[in-house]
Amino acid sequence: MSLSQLPDNWDLIIIGGGITGAGILREASRMGLRTLLVEQKDFAWGTSSRSSKLVHGGLRYLKEGKFMLTKIAVEEREYLLKEAPGLVESLAFLLPVYEDQRPGRRTLKVGLSLYDIMAHERQHKFYDTDEFSKRIPFINPEGLTGGFIYLDAQTDDSRLVLRLILESMASGAMALNYTAVTSILRNADGHVKGVEVTDTETKENKTLATQAVINATGCWAERLHPSPEKNRHLRPLRGSHLVFPSDALPINHGFGFMHSRDNRSVFMVPWEGAVLVGTTDLDHKEDLSREPTITEAEVNYLMEGIQAIFPSLDISLENCIAAFAGVRPVLSEDDRPPSEESREHVVWIDKGLVTVTGGKLTTFRRLAWDALKAAKSFLPLVELPDKKDPIFSGAPDKPQKDYGLAEHTWRRLYGRYGKAANTLVQMATPENLTFIPGTETLWAELPFVAQTEQIRHLDDLLLRRVRIGLLTPYGGKAYFKRIRKLCRDVLPWDRRRWRKEIKNYLDLWIQSHALPVQRAKILAERKIFSLKSIRAFLKYLYYKIRFTKSRHNA
Ligand SMILES: Cc1cc2nc3c(=O)[nH]c(=O)nc-3n(C[C@H](O)[C@H](O)[C@H](O)COP(=O)(O)OP(=O)(O)OC[C@H]3O[C@@H](n4cnc5c(N)ncnc54)[C@H](O)[C@@H]3O)c2cc1C
Repeated sequence: MSLSQLPDNWDLIIIGGGITGAGILREASRMGLRTLLVEQKDFAWGTSSRSSKLVHGGLRYLKEGKFMLTKIAVEEREYLLKEAPGLVESLAFLLPVYEDQRPGRRTLKVGLSLYDIMAHERQHKFYDTDEFSKRIPFINPEGLTGGFIYLDAQTDDSRLVLRLILESMASGAMALNYTAVTSILRNADGHVKGVEVTDTETKENKTLATQAVINATGCWAERLHPSPEKNRHLRPLRGSHLVFPSDALPINHGFGFMHSRDNRSVFMVPWEGAVLVGTTDLDHKEDLSREPTITEAEVNYLMEGIQAIFPSLDISLENCIAAFAGVRPVLSEDDRPPSEESREHVVWIDKGLVTVTGGKLTTFRRLAWDALKAAKSFLPLVELPDKKDPIFSGAPDKPQKDYGLAEHTWRRLYGRYGKAANTLVQMATPENLTFIPGTETLWAELPFVAQTEQIRHLDDLLLRRVRIGLLTPYGGKAYFKRIRKLCRDVLPWDRRRWRKEIKNYLDLWIQSHALPVQRAKILAERKIFSLKSIRAFLKYLYYKIRFTKSRHNA
């Protein structure tokens, strides 16, 4: 929809199309408010497509004494597991325990027992060294004294955002991507009366009137609403992940370990047919309007961790498919080490403008309620939604006809698309009801999302609606021909536009999702030299020689 077709008047306008904005949109739509969400880039383009994809209590918050934060997150995890099967799924984690490790076995036991109490179910168990090693045979045996297994959950972060947005639209709300709020308009007594929006591509502008505005712009929040708390400000912290194919890093469980360099916890998570390893936690000083990128130092840190814990696995950067980095909106009160900063959220109120930022993917409903409670006095008289009611419309447990797809695949499709999964499958040819190699994504998902989910660019399609840009080598380059064939009838792109989209997507992928050494190699192949790329290319050669040697010696 173009801005000129958009109604002029709204009860509520939400700025930011990440999990926080999407959660608020869903709850506001359940309240029957006339609500609009605007996102300056694509839905979930910010942090909400770049997380570790865990729906978790956060064991480490217990160590810091943040019992309430963990309790709330565990409760949300349990709610979402019931509410969104196929999108939020239980995941068992293994935690090794070594001699002299901090936190040691006793502390971990206390933490995991508290976790179980919060979930009202005993979910953890200790294995002795033999039993634990059977589950991860390539683990470093030196000093291993056994380990725990416990339960948490995982999701597809950008699909969770999309599901919330699509459900809200089905209940009458409106959401537009590539639409930025450029200013917040106030009347003579300073009360919010509307916003100025711009379509970031067509440059069309429009003034919209509203009773209240919720600023859910994560790391960007202080641009629209400077912190009213003198000593508390947003501190953007970058976290990066490496993506490996599951045959190179064969783990069936989540796996957490203390990094040998700084005793920080790092996770490996099987996800969508691949394995994610992360995260780092560093101050992010770069321009927030650019896609964040993993640095060479972060790559080395993560590789060092993997090689120390799995020394016999012979894993190297040659195996790595892609990388991604995200920036946490963390509220900082004093200069603590990044990993010790609080993950709690704040709500600021200023005459019709409510800002909500910080928090976690897992606790999005709590952020939504707090923001809506704060905005209530500016809004028409309606009750907040019942917290126990479902946020997603139900999907059947199984289809009337299965079209040869396994139960697990239907569960995944219902989780991501709700009832629309039936249409997705009915529209597909049998050859498209097969998996894109190395992933759990069906070919048939591509034309369906291209047609129904506001795709403006190829990166919207391959990095956020489906995730094959992260899950297959070189951003899925080998599949471009088939993707184009599948989507050309539903996307209004001529040949020239497809060529441009592919070029822009590949440039973006190289810049933001290739490893620094891969980037240098690709740029060298394209004959684009810079001092930085030559340095990185020499490093690539060094790794290649080391990798070949170690394979040779093995
Ligand atoms: C590396 C990493 C790992 C993480 N792992 C987990 C995890 O496993 N589990 C968990 O629970 N949490 C995790 N988190 C935290 C979680 O991802 C974030 O708390 C959450 O995604 C923040 O969502 P948000 O909607 O507030 O911000 P964003 O997702 O950043 O959304 C804000 C949006 O606002 C838009 N915007 C900004 N300005 C404007 C404007 N003027 N007009 C219109 N739009 C605008 C931006 O483009 C952006 O898309 C992780 C975070 C990181 C960085």
